[in-house]
Amino acid sequence: ERAKYDGISYLAFSNELATAMFGRYELLKDLREAISNDDIVIYLQPKMSLTTNALVGFEALARWNHKNGGLIPPDQFIPLAESSGLIDKLDQQMLQQSCQAINALKSIGINVPISVNVTGSEIIRPNYFENFKKLLEDEKIPYDMIELEITESQIIEEKSSINTHLSVLKTLGVRVNVDDFGTGYSSLAYLSTLSVSVLKIDHSFVWRMEESEKDWQVLKMIIELGNSLGLSVIAEGIETQQQREHLLSLGCENGQGYLFSKPMPLDKTIDWIKTCL
Ligand code: C2E
Ligand code: MG
Ligand code: MG
Ligand code: MG
Repeated sequence: ERAKYDGISYLAFSNELATAMFGRYELLKDLREAISNDDIVIYLQPKMSLTTNALVGFEALARWNHKNGGLIPPDQFIPLAESSGLIDKLDQQMLQQSCQAINALKSIGINVPISVNVTGSEIIRPNYFENFKKLLEDEKIPYDMIELEITESQIIEEKSSINTHLSVLKTLGVRVNVDDFGTGYSSLAYLSTLSVSVLKIDHSFVWRMEESEKDWQVLKMIIELGNSLGLSVIAEGIETQQQREHLLSLGCENGQGYLFSKPMPLDKTIDWIKTCL
């Protein structure tokens, strides 16, 4: 069975269905094989300045190019990778592909950073920085060209030790984005102690802002809070021109969403950039 996702035909199986079909063991075996065959690839989604409409960066999102045809979206394999110890390899491959994409974009004159999603428990591992630095050095990527995205809830989960690691990244010049911000209920006091650079507002606020006065107010507060803490603020999931304009009027600097583009493979990304020039 197939479903439309990002406008592309994806292999549609829910975790439950997949488990029923192959069993967890089979799916895990497939995933392990996919990772060693480099079948997990990055798709890139542009990040835009809401004030100038300029391209300011890309986010790398994982897609599983399944051997049976079709693409499997991350929600269907990231949790499995996390619970089976495969996530470190996977996140590392995404980082490597992002470095390669930065170089490919550079060769056509586009110099913008790419942000990579990383599982919170990964960056606190003892050899994380060693691997991270080595990868960037091998690909000759400056630290300010890679950003990391960690969800607010995973930051809270690793509360006791994460900030030490976040400050190492900040010292290197790596900007950390707090992903899905607003859904993890961290306190203002806690947030102001974190070595992070970007607040990435969860799409749920963007989608509800026009119907719900409460969400509008929360969104307004998050943007003001981010701006006053000297953080860059980006909203995700912008689908309409109206949402874009509302966010701009509330002082939100950057945005990302289907209004601008869906996530695309590297070759399509290059075509997309050419149509913008
Ligand atoms: P995220 O990092 O919050 O990514 C945003 C998600 O929203 C992406 O879904 C993106 O395709 C989707 N999106 C962007 N703009 C719009 C829009 O305008 N409308 C709608 N309806 N959706 C939009 P995706 O690619 O399915 O990724 C889901 C989540 O999986 C990500 O959420 C991220 O947490 C995780 N993920 C993706 N790639 C990786 C990875 O390489 N490593 C890790 N650890 N997690 C990843
Ligand atoms: Mg993200
Ligand atoms: Mg997000
Ligand atoms: Mg998310």
